[in-house]
Amino acid sequence: MLIGGAAAVLGGGVLAREELGHLWYRVPGVAKPRKEGELDYAGSEWVAASSANWRRADRPDDYTIDRVVIHVVQGSYQVALKVFRDPGHGAASHYVVRKDGHVAQMIRELDVAYHAGNREYNERSIGIEHEGWVDNAASFTDAMYRSSARLTADICRRYAIPVDREHIIGHVEVPGTDHTDPGTKWDWDRYMKFVRDA
Ligand SMILES: [Zn+2]
Repeated sequence: MLIGGAAAVLGGGVLAREELGHLWYRVPGVAKPRKEGELDYAGSEWVAASSANWRRADRPDDYTIDRVVIHVVQGSYQVALKVFRDPGHGAASHYVVRKDGHVAQMIRELDVAYHAGNREYNERSIGIEHEGWVDNAASFTDAMYRSSARLTADICRRYAIPVDREHIIGHVEVPGTDHTDPGTKWDWDRYMKFVRDA
């Protein structure tokens, strides 16, 4: 009962109470069954992130999922996969989209990925990384926009998330962040149109 111990040490602080409130979900037989390599999005390939870069949860039963957070890697697809598999990195997103539209799922949607730099937003969101650079609009290809939009539309449909800019946000819009991605070159109008169409 590691969590109970932490709660005792913290004297019932906000964080401890929150963790205790979710304890019953971790009782064997209550948590959803899961299989290694199982996908939430049929159009993706499973590439497991290091377990140091996310934490086990039981969403959407323990936390409501109501945000999709859009990121840009500042590097290649291969670099994103490499660092998300590195236990020393401390961060990873659920999905990575390559410029040809290929999608890797690295963390299950029921789990909390460390991608937004904000605990509450990590718990309520699904993170999608995109190969490319924030200052290079050419790195955001049509194939990538369309593929990512299909993924986001699928997530919105499965969790009843409204398709609007309040619920589909950039990392830059996460409260307290010092990250600027996806940057000003990311074409939100085009992206949101593709999400609506999908
Ligand atoms: Zn980001």
